[in-house]
Amino acid sequence: MPMDRRTTFKLGGEARFLLEPTSEVELETALDWVRSRDLPLFVMGRGSNLVVSDAGWPGAIVCLGASFAGAEWTGSGATARAGTRLTEFVTQSVGRGLAGLEKLAGIPGTVGGAVFINAGAYGQEFGDRVERVKSLSRDGTWRERTREECRFGYRSSAFRDNGEIVVSATVELEPGDVEALRAGVRETQKARVDKQPLDLPNAGSLFKRPPGGFASKMVEEAGLKGFRVGNAAISGKHAGFAVNLGGATATDVWELSREVVRRVQESHGVTLEREVVFLGEFPKD
Ligand SMILES: Cc1cc2nc3c(=O)[nH]c(=O)nc-3n(C[C@H](O)[C@H](O)[C@H](O)COP(=O)(O)OP(=O)(O)OC[C@H]3O[C@@H](n4cnc5c(N)ncnc54)[C@H](O)[C@@H]3O)c2cc1C
Repeated sequence: MPMDRRTTFKLGGEARFLLEPTSEVELETALDWVRSRDLPLFVMGRGSNLVVSDAGWPGAIVCLGASFAGAEWTGSGATARAGTRLTEFVTQSVGRGLAGLEKLAGIPGTVGGAVFINAGAYGQEFGDRVERVKSLSRDGTWRERTREECRFGYRSSAFRDNGEIVVSATVELEPGDVEALRAGVRETQKARVDKQPLDLPNAGSLFKRPPGGFASKMVEEAGLKGFRVGNAAISGKHAGFAVNLGGATATDVWELSREVVRRVQESHGVTLEREVVFLGEFPKD
């Protein structure tokens, strides 16, 4: 399966197998199958933070996206399946007069991806609202983790280390005024359209925020707005984003990020860390 069709950056090689379970039982079956063939396994959602190597992925990708979506609401929160679109989930919460996730509107990933990376924006983080997460380990053991056990940090969670598949998340929210929340969502969406290069394929922020500063500011100060490698470039609109100008390769993005890290190290003495996940083979840094 060509992964340029499955990622927001619209680039990258092929996955040997792409499995899209629609239920927990199918997910278990898919994992059994991957294990029985001894294939390397990767899990993805909507591919909005992902670059797959041009050489592709020699194993299986389990995709928990649209086929694994849906949320059940209570009076004060919900349990959402991993494939639920985050923006759709936020819209539902706001429509029910529930506050706490509205600033995450416009993040184009899934609930599973939001748990994995502890997605955040404008002062809100997904992990702050999590009560518990249901996950499946690669050996097929089901787990239910509390917020503390998820160890949410800045763009990180326990799932980065333990390799478990996030299957669903239960969140608790606060009562809020529907119209005020809707106005907040419109404001956030406008800020995104005004500041981010949404007209070109990208995968969000290329780098994490380094301690004591902003990656985008450092990249801009290093004179790298518009800097190009092949058909990938640092956006001229927002220096925190890399964009695909058309026909970019995964290697272009990798080399671009590597050169930006080198130059910001030179100009600011800070080593930027990639936020975008690079899957498969890439040259050594
Ligand atoms: C225009 C744009 C704006 C963005 N703005 C923001 C922002 O404001 N804040 C922010 O935090 N991010 C932002 N992002 C990045 C991205 O949308 C988020 O990181 C999102 O949470 C990724 O979710 P996904 O489903 O697309 O994950 P994918 O890209 O498919 O995967 C990303 C990582 O999550 C892991 N993963 C995904 N699903 C699961 C699962 N079910 N179980 C275990 N691991 C899983 C994958 O293994 C991979 O390591 C933006 C991206 C774009 C393109």
